[in-house]
Amino acid sequence: MPESTKPATFRGGEVVNRLGPVQRIVIDRLHVVFDWCKRVYDALAEPLRKDPDAPSFRLSSPETHTTTIDGDVGWGNRPPARIHCGRCDALIDQPTSLDDIDCDHCVAEYSNEEFTDLQLAHLICPVCGDRMEHGQRHPQTFDVPEWATCHSCRYHWEFKHSY
Ligand SMILES: [Zn+2]
Ligand SMILES: [Zn+2]
Repeated sequence: MPESTKPATFRGGEVVNRLGPVQRIVIDRLHVVFDWCKRVYDALAEPLRKDPDAPSFRLSSPETHTTTIDGDVGWGNRPPARIHCGRCDALIDQPTSLDDIDCDHCVAEYSNEEFTDLQLAHLICPVCGDRMEHGQRHPQTFDVPEWATCHSCRYHWEFKHSY
């Protein structure tokens, strides 16, 4: 049976073969990039896996490559937060992400899960106590800060491993 008259039901497995050579190269490249990313990620994650209870780790700064800075990763290791009370607007300190948010100035009490309903003033550096700058990397996906940096002592926190 000539190639061109093969029944249509056989075509499923032939999709890649029917692409042009350039398209095939692009697909191969994507695989290579993906494998490379995975190797880098595994290499970075490996030392952390060996000691999952370690409260913090040393993070190489991607800008300078020569300095190391203190850092933490994960919502459970989030720096203390200062939050506006949704009832009286006083500032409430939440020492960790797991603590309840109780206002000292009025009767309002919020569980830690209501963090996203309240307005965050800023996070507080756990190393030097300064206000931290914070931001998001995926505003459509998460409605919590995904990173925070202290400009005084260079402590840095990340919601997730990002590289
Ligand atoms: Zn209040
Ligand atoms: Zn600091």
